[in-house]
Amino acid sequence: MFKKLLVANRGTIAIRIIRACRELGIPTIAIYSTADKDALHVRMADEAVCIGPAAAEDSYLNIPSIISTVLTYGADAVHPGYGFLSENGDFAEACLKSGVNFVGPRARHIRLMGDKPRARRIMTRAGVPVLPGSAGNGVTELRNAQEDAKRLGYPVLIKAAAGGGGKGMRVVRDAQELARLFPLARAESEAAFGSRTMYLEKYLERARHVEFQILADNQRNVIHLGERDCSIQRRHQKVLEEAPCPVMTKRLRDKMGKAAVRAAEVVGYSNVGTVEFLLADDGQFYFIEMNTRIQVEHGVTEMVTSIDLVKESIRVAGGAALGMKQRQVEIEGAAIECRVYAEDPDTHLPSPGVVSNHHAPGGLGVRVETALYDGYRVPVQYDPLIAKLIAHADDRGQVIARAKAALREYLIDGIRTNIPLHLKILDDPDFRKGDFATDFLKRYENVAEPPAATAAAR
Ligand code: ADP
Repeated sequence: MFKKLLVANRGTIAIRIIRACRELGIPTIAIYSTADKDALHVRMADEAVCIGPAAAEDSYLNIPSIISTVLTYGADAVHPGYGFLSENGDFAEACLKSGVNFVGPRARHIRLMGDKPRARRIMTRAGVPVLPGSAGNGVTELRNAQEDAKRLGYPVLIKAAAGGGGKGMRVVRDAQELARLFPLARAESEAAFGSRTMYLEKYLERARHVEFQILADNQRNVIHLGERDCSIQRRHQKVLEEAPCPVMTKRLRDKMGKAAVRAAEVVGYSNVGTVEFLLADDGQFYFIEMNTRIQVEHGVTEMVTSIDLVKESIRVAGGAALGMKQRQVEIEGAAIECRVYAEDPDTHLPSPGVVSNHHAPGGLGVRVETALYDGYRVPVQYDPLIAKLIAHADDRGQVIARAKAALREYLIDGIRTNIPLHLKILDDPDFRKGDFATDFLKRYENVAEPPAATAAAR
């Protein structure tokens, strides 16, 4: 096992990784920006190194600075968490070149899945269903997008080839909208990812977002740990996730799970990953992308499978074989995760500031992952995700009741949060019936500006 692991992240995921390392007996190094000098991950790690100023490009995204810290402080492994450099092939390669283990897949798999038109082509060849869309490498010019849209039929979704975090995405319902929105989406992609390459996909109305957790070792063993339903989204970003998916059947899980495992196998994938699908009303499912990292919502899978995904990812990165076989994976009970954001519940505008009082809920089946403490100042520079409240119970009805009780108990004074929105969701009759799709949150939508661009992917 590793001698020392550097956590290349901040916030809730940095703490999650430090906890896993403690259980494994691996000392940790935290890195932090000047804006995070009082952050909890800095206090919790065995060593902490300031690597730059507040701007993420100068600190949490600064590859040379992180690599030199790794070498100076003698770490032999790096965990990237989610967001920041977690899906940056150059970072994974830089770690490898410095003789350090990257806890994640190989650089070429990160790059391959980060190129979405290419990932679609590979999946099509492997027999994994994908939605009709742009052929080849995608499109950069409006006239090519127009040709594709004509062939596909409206509505279509414009997506960024290098996309992530919902950026560069626009639903278009006719040719006029395409002419207006294509240049905007392309400009957004250029700003966020430095790429003008877009692609079009047939837009599926009333679909659910159902994703499968993959776990793979370096000996080509691949298993899936069941699914998560992440349909409760705002502007294509997840807000609340659950496992299992309320409409899942054993047969469909087997079928989708096999497709997800195949998706990982065809490329020779290793470590944790998530294969995302859209599930239509008629039971058809379609690959949309693969995330080559631990996801924000991994906790719901951990609760229903009793498998510690972060520990497993560290173990397999160290060369260990998977600790279990597919037939040993069992889904027990139901789990829900509520992403708590520092934002105004009505306008969704960020609400940074000092947390004057923090009381996290507890009790049987309640898990809170947070970096908050009394007196902590939530910085403006980073993702507004401040806590993840995860509940687990014997069935879906009970877990909804448990999550509601826990949310009511959660005290975060001094800043505003989206806890009221979570309570509305959990009380919604359609949500309670399990009858929802990715458009569900539109019913609670106010017309407001989206929150400021954030560094961490969700
Ligand atoms: P990103 O990587 O930017 O998060 P994804 O491809 O994962 O983008 O899509 C994010 C969300 O957008 C999905 O969860 C789903 O709600 C919606 N979406 C993506 N593709 C389609 C599609 N073809 N039809 C309908 N909704 C889609």
